[in-house]
Amino acid sequence: MPGLNDTLLVFTDIDGTLLDSHTHEWQPAEAWLTRLRQHEIPVILCSSMTAAEIVAIQKMVGLQGQPFIAENGAVIQLDTRWEAHNNASRLLNGTTHDQITTVLTPLRENEGYKFTTFSDLEVAALVELTGYTPAQASLARLHEASETLIWRDSDERMAKFDADLNRFGLRLVQGARYWHVIDQRDGKDQAVNWLTRQYCQHEGKQYTTLGLGDGPNDAPMLDNVDFAIVVKGFNRDGVTLRDDDPSRVYRTTQTGPAGWHEGLDHVFGAS
Ligand SMILES: [Mg+2]
Repeated sequence: MPGLNDTLLVFTDIDGTLLDSHTHEWQPAEAWLTRLRQHEIPVILCSSMTAAEIVAIQKMVGLQGQPFIAENGAVIQLDTRWEAHNNASRLLNGTTHDQITTVLTPLRENEGYKFTTFSDLEVAALVELTGYTPAQASLARLHEASETLIWRDSDERMAKFDADLNRFGLRLVQGARYWHVIDQRDGKDQAVNWLTRQYCQHEGKQYTTLGLGDGPNDAPMLDNVDFAIVVKGFNRDGVTLRDDDPSRVYRTTQTGPAGWHEGLDHVFGAS
């Protein structure tokens, strides 16, 4: 297990991991967020949320200016202190939300797939559907390189839809609540590996990586970090990892931010 004085990067899912899925409470994680900041260990939020949503959460939990991974890896924000990097594209593989829309619209018209995208909905309708506040719903619609959708068709049709997307270089990924269409080359795993390489190049050091997540959609991220904390979640499928060795993976008994705290206590020792 790594130590607090190692050169570390911490990648964490948000919903159900750093934040309680139901109450949005994050305070049980606060003591460890403070400790990681004192040790200058970056805490990189990694989620299917939009960049606008993640920036709001960064402010809430005190992670302003840190890098983050949004839209399931399609959008990456580098450390804002890396001024020389500021011109670098934030879209991992460059496929924009508008380009994805130009694929989705005719596919739906021609093939009759039943789904509703976040872009289809006005804020009020999105509030009703998701339970978000109007402010959250506005941010959740600001996709840059993916589209979020609510699938209203059969499983068989979904398989065909995914195959159709593949022909356009896109794919469907399951998030914690919804489905997301992204560039086939994008993913939380590719984003974690790419960002870790940027750190190595920019800082000229080797980094040890630690990831935290609660859902099956976090498995690609947790498979690509050195050490993984699986925060106990509510998904019936659980989280299946390629390398589940207890020397690498810890599964918490508590959910949400309390599990986040428990996992870091396990890795670094209780304070
Ligand atoms: Mg989650």
